[in-house]
Amino acid sequence: MPAEGANIQKELNPLANAERQFDEAAGRLNLSAGIREIIKHPRRATIVSLPVQMDDGTLRVFTGYRVQHSIVRGPAKGGIRFHPDVTLNEVEALAAWMTWKCAVVNIPFGGGKGGVACDPSKMSKGELERLTRRYAADLSDLFGPESDVPAPDVGTNDQVMAWIVDTYSMHERRTEYAVVTGKPLEVGGSAGRREATGRGLLFCVRGACAHLGLPLKGARVAVQGFGNVGSVSADLMARDGASIVAVSDVTGGVHHPAGLDVPALLQWTADHRGVKGFPGSQPLETPIVEYDCDILVPAALENQITGENADRVRARIIAEGANGPTTPDADKILQKKGVFVIPDILCNSGGVTVSYFEWVQNRMGFYWPEREVNERLEQYMVQAFDSVLSKAKEHGVNMRVAAFMVAIERVVKVIMLRGVYA
Ligand code: NAD
Repeated sequence: MPAEGANIQKELNPLANAERQFDEAAGRLNLSAGIREIIKHPRRATIVSLPVQMDDGTLRVFTGYRVQHSIVRGPAKGGIRFHPDVTLNEVEALAAWMTWKCAVVNIPFGGGKGGVACDPSKMSKGELERLTRRYAADLSDLFGPESDVPAPDVGTNDQVMAWIVDTYSMHERRTEYAVVTGKPLEVGGSAGRREATGRGLLFCVRGACAHLGLPLKGARVAVQGFGNVGSVSADLMARDGASIVAVSDVTGGVHHPAGLDVPALLQWTADHRGVKGFPGSQPLETPIVEYDCDILVPAALENQITGENADRVRARIIAEGANGPTTPDADKILQKKGVFVIPDILCNSGGVTVSYFEWVQNRMGFYWPEREVNERLEQYMVQAFDSVLSKAKEHGVNMRVAAFMVAIERVVKVIMLRGVYA
């Protein structure tokens, strides 16, 4: 049993998985060993100890991280995660995925990620604000519109971004909105940012359906995770005529083979803080990733589809809203079964794309209407989907390998043009 346990631990190690995905694509690109070494290693990893005064008067020290994986194509870009399980290993993996994501969707950013090991659900608003400000102050030398631009991730939100804007601006002695994205509209946020990841996912799903000859109208969709990404994806796909047959979140899962009433489910979730007990639905008895559907949208956490359960997946398309929901072992099984996986670095890149638009708008001081944001997002997503699909066809590889190939080629091209400074 220990050997098997060790294998499972290895399969679920995000950094090992990010490296396996990179190696598989890089192996097809004839890269020199030196270039592979350069892009495999993060440019910079910083660990900070953050003392915070708690409401009861005690002092606690939290560990925070910021990893800049690559800055060759532009400032490091990537969210900040507040979660008890945050580790340097996970942040490094997420930072590398951001490099590839920004390159795939072709926006002028590198990749970064940050995190603090903490449980925001057990902290007061004041404690969260003090932790955020201390984190932003300690890392303010790294952050900046030209160098490193954070955003929200699991456990952080637009309020946290507003505190970072304020802390950074106090240090700079001027207001600087372009230092983070995902801000409230009143504090330099962009119209359409909240829906951007789900909307980008919709554009990818439309592309996949067209490619496979599967009409989205009437397609049966199961969604794991009903937060920002999952709920917006479900809502937009339902508006395109898809039938959302099953949904799950931390409270449990619900399903109805004839389709759930998505607007009513959104209201229920807002009122009851979860999907559980939604009237007119039945409780889900099987794991949602094994549900009988045409399209599966994992939109919760890493490592949901693994070597252990991939064989029981029944969907024809997997649209990865979450980062890292499918392990490399699972990918191999899904490919054999003919499941069309739209990989995370492509499928959920709508969020960072509108973050880029937010940064552009902040720097122009001129704000676009939502229609314009959505139109530009569609152009970027359709172009990215088409270039990955062409690469997949050209090399006879799956969409994940193709997406990594497109991304790595773009990053390497810039490294070669810029040269290695010595
Ligand atoms: P969120 O916190 O808004 O929602 C997460 C959802 O997952 C919640 O509904 C939660 O209840 C559910 N969940 C948690 N554990 C679960 C479990 N074991 N089973 C089923 N559901 C579970 O977060 P989000 O912003 O929607 O992010 C979801 C994923 O998408 C993360 O992997 C994140 O990194 C990724 N992502 C988010 C964005 C974005 O713009 N928000 C962009 C790219 C990628």
